[in-house]
Amino acid sequence: MGLLNHAAVPGGITATYAHYVMQLHLECPNELCPIRRQAVHKLVAVGHMVPDTHRAGAYAMGY
Ligand SMILES: [Zn+2]
Repeated sequence: MGLLNHAAVPGGITATYAHYVMQLHLECPNELCPIRRQAVHKLVAVGHMVPDTHRAGAYAMGY
């Protein structure tokens, strides 16, 4: 991972590039990889990825 640039891209990224980022940064922890977080956010925004609903699911089970 040392050769990768993990910094977020100013001005945003395209959905195509977000898919590329997700492959490059597959093993990066979200909290340590700003561009991965940016890519996840982008893919969720365009409907290419479903957000992690674990917490929401636990919340829903309370009902
Ligand atoms: Zn990364």
